Amino acid sequence: MSATLTAPKVKAKNPTEKRTRVAVVGGGLAGLAAGCALADAGFAVRLLERKPFLGGRASSYQHPATGEVVDNCQHVLLGCCTNLLDFYKRLGVEDQIRWFEQLTFLLPDGKAGTIQPSGLPAPLHAAPAFLKFSVLNLSDKLAIARAMLALMRGLPKETEENFLSWLKRHGQTEQAISRFWAPVLISALNDDLDQVSVRYAAMVFRDSFLKSAEAGRMGVPAAPLSEIYGRAGEYIEARGGEVMLRASVDSLSVHDSAVTLRANGAEVAADYVVLAAPFYETVKLLPQSADAEALRSQIGELKTVPITGIHFWFDREVTPMEHAVLLDRTIQWMFQKSKLLRGKRDEGAPLAAGSHIELVVSSSKSLLAMGRNEILDLALKEFIEFFPAAKDARVLKSAVIKEVHATFSPAPQSDRYRPIPITPWPRIFLSGDWTATGWPATMEGAVRAGYATAEALAFATGDQQKFLVPDLAARGLMKLFG
Ligand SMILES: Cc1cc2nc3c(=O)[nH]c(=O)nc-3n(C[C@H](O)[C@H](O)[C@H](O)COP(=O)(O)OP(=O)(O)OC[C@H]3O[C@@H](n4cnc5c(N)ncnc54)[C@H](O)[C@@H]3O)c2cc1C
Repeated sequence: MSATLTAPKVKAKNPTEKRTRVAVVGGGLAGLAAGCALADAGFAVRLLERKPFLGGRASSYQHPATGEVVDNCQHVLLGCCTNLLDFYKRLGVEDQIRWFEQLTFLLPDGKAGTIQPSGLPAPLHAAPAFLKFSVLNLSDKLAIARAMLALMRGLPKETEENFLSWLKRHGQTEQAISRFWAPVLISALNDDLDQVSVRYAAMVFRDSFLKSAEAGRMGVPAAPLSEIYGRAGEYIEARGGEVMLRASVDSLSVHDSAVTLRANGAEVAADYVVLAAPFYETVKLLPQSADAEALRSQIGELKTVPITGIHFWFDREVTPMEHAVLLDRTIQWMFQKSKLLRGKRDEGAPLAAGSHIELVVSSSKSLLAMGRNEILDLALKEFIEFFPAAKDARVLKSAVIKEVHATFSPAPQSDRYRPIPITPWPRIFLSGDWTATGWPATMEGAVRAGYATAEALAFATGDQQKFLVPDLAARGLMKLFG
């Protein structure tokens, strides 16, 4: 991948053919998905990414203090992420995802409950496991079943109401909320229940838990994220495009027949530009005009929420489990990276008998003001409550990665602030998980945004292309509810 801006070399498939030039600002999943789709459709794509690697908020890098390659945070996907899966197939990396049908929920006293599908038709596929789910009592389960029935009937209308208020209105017990609704939704939507919209919360349960067993299975990347998403750079280049790393776009100017970007002091000309940076960066790049002011204040209403990843490298294995949901404590998920990453498992070494554990805290507002050591002490103390074998293990290395602006908050009515890809400037298009995809801030949402932007841009040039793929069909009895 090229890192220079001074000698751009766009390789045309046919040197005599003049291809439409598209500059994509941002090498996160939205920019990469838009770039790959447009490169496939014959556009000359030049992607500019500020960082030295691709993947944006879903990336990996060598952690300076530990020397280990880490993901900025563990990322998981679900079977219902159809566009993300299409993107993986496009890149030929679908075999880099490991799928899990079973989720284990752990209490600090060691009690465990598992959710997994049975042969029953949807939405009853998880019912047998749910009946045996030992971390909830009968009244919790009856309350959850009643709420699920309400959610099955259709997506509730978007109002000012938050999901905690909806749950209380639907008779949920404290324990049903803290041990079922909260762990699932806080990790899926990355905000507290009293902050998230009813529509997005309902969507998580309808599209993953209720629709079919396939929709709800969990996918975990088996390779570092930048290794997976780095393939998108090669994909663009193989189609005559160019990927520029360490290329930070400072400004852009729109002319009648072209757009000029300024990055690292050099100029890049294009026929169209896709702004696929996070929303708080995109607003800085919009041209100066009254239209831009309106768009800026609309987008400016979106709020961000943090996520914190806490890593421990132990001198020995402290649990055979690859992942688990952790209840009733600050830490929410455990991922045993040394087992999940295929390369590490195949190599056996470097920590031959050791173990790399990542603990994830979504909506980690309470950790923002805490220092590294305070967070490590708290996380280790809690981790030992779930996995007592860790008490005797030696911590070889540790790291805390706080992503302060991890995702936008899917607050009630937040959709009204999410813009569509088309802007008042015919040569400028927007993309990113924060645009109007109908999805929360996820890898699927970002790829949907990228594909939707690519469709809109191709259409503007008179080229009707279809990149978005349909949702999974409902199965079993869920067919009756759409
Ligand atoms: C800690 C964490 C955990 C997460 N966990 C999950 C998960 O488990 N499952 C899931 O589906 N999603 C998860 N997400 C959300 C997911 O990562 C994002 O929704 C998605 O990656 C966003 O992609 P994007 O392309 O819209 O934006 P980004 O990934 O932010 O990409 C934008 C890119 O633009 C670049 N850029 C910015 N300004 C400029 C500029 N001026 N010039 C050039 N380049 C610029 C940035 O460097 C960045 O690479 C998580 C996110 C975080 C942060």
